[in-house]
Formats: sequence, structure tokens, C-alpha cells
Amino acid sequence: MKTKGFLLANNHLNLLDMLRSYDMSSKFKMPGKANLRNRSSTINNAFAIAITPYLPPSSDNLDWYYAELGITPDQCGYCLQASNSVDHIMPLVRNGLPTGYITNIYNLIPCCSTCNSKKGAKDFRSWYCHDDNVSRLRAMGLSIEQIQERYSTICRFIEKHIPKPLDYETILGKEKWEEYKHRKKKNVGTAQG
Ligand SMILES: [Zn+2]
Repeated sequence: MKTKGFLLANNHLNLLDMLRSYDMSSKFKMPGKANLRNRSSTINNAFAIAITPYLPPSSDNLDWYYAELGITPDQCGYCLQASNSVDHIMPLVRNGLPTGYITNIYNLIPCCSTCNSKKGAKDFRSWYCHDDNVSRLRAMGLSIEQIQERYSTICRFIEKHIPKPLDYETILGKEKWEEYKHRKKKNVGTAQG
């Protein structure tokens, strides 16, 4: 539907306007735009991240957020050790293209750098339940019950909060989306991101 596409396009433009005017003084430590992932220095990811909305939380009161994740503000949501980074629960980039998931509080989880790099762009559910990850967490001293609790708490958070991915083809229109993919391919080739 044309009207719907137009409205979506407008909403997207509003989002971009909001990004430009954001007060970045929020207490929540957002991931750096240039370092959303360690590997984001690749042009490939930069291309995808350039069109991904980046929204810091609108309030400093994030008690609800930590309560729903079942952690304190300085804990890693995945392993309960000290956190020193922030992970996108749903990755922003897959196969070199933006997934439609965005950077906002509903898609972020405080974590330690080890969990962050081990998870990478993997799907949370399959990564967390994988034997390798369970063995790693057990070796760190987590009980099976704690691992199960982390898993179900984060799954609940995902189902309740993570917005549906943006459908760039609908938002931008097929022509612009094709142009975006074409330009990306022309500039960075087909390397996986
Ligand atoms: Zn961790």
C-alpha cells in the first residue's frame, strides 16, 4: 500500500531527525557508534550500520530494565561476571546486510567482553544453549539452574521487548533498497560481514 509505505518512510525520517538531536548524556553506556562490534571497522559493517537507527534511552531511570534482565547494572547478562561492554541481543548485520534490528535499550544487554566476542553475530538462543557455551559457563562456576535462569530470563526479555526488525525494502521502497545493495556491493564487494 502506497500510503503505508509513505508513512513508514516518514517515520524513518523522523527517527533519523531524532538521532541528530539526541542528548547523549544518558547514564546508560551506549555502545560507541564506530565500535558497535569489534569487527565493525570493516567498511562492510559500516555500510550497514550507517542506516541503522541509534536511539539512547529516553530516561536515566532504567531500574525496570535491569530488573527484567535480572542483573545489577554492572553485571554481564550472560555470565553474571562484571560487565565492561554492551551487546546487541539481535545482531545489526548479517551476511553484510542490515538485519533491521536497531540500537536501542530493548536490543542491548550489558555483558563482559568475553561473552560479547564469543556470541558475535550468532543467534542468542542457539549460541547460549550450545554445549561449548554451557561448558564455559559451568567452568566459570555457574550452576545448571543459573544457566537455565539466564536463558529463560533473556528469552522472556526478547519476546517482550525487542521490536520487530525494520523492513528496509518497505521503508525505503524497492528501488532505493536495490540501489543501496548495489552501491554496497560496488564499494565493498560481497564479503561477509
Ligand atoms: Zn559474560
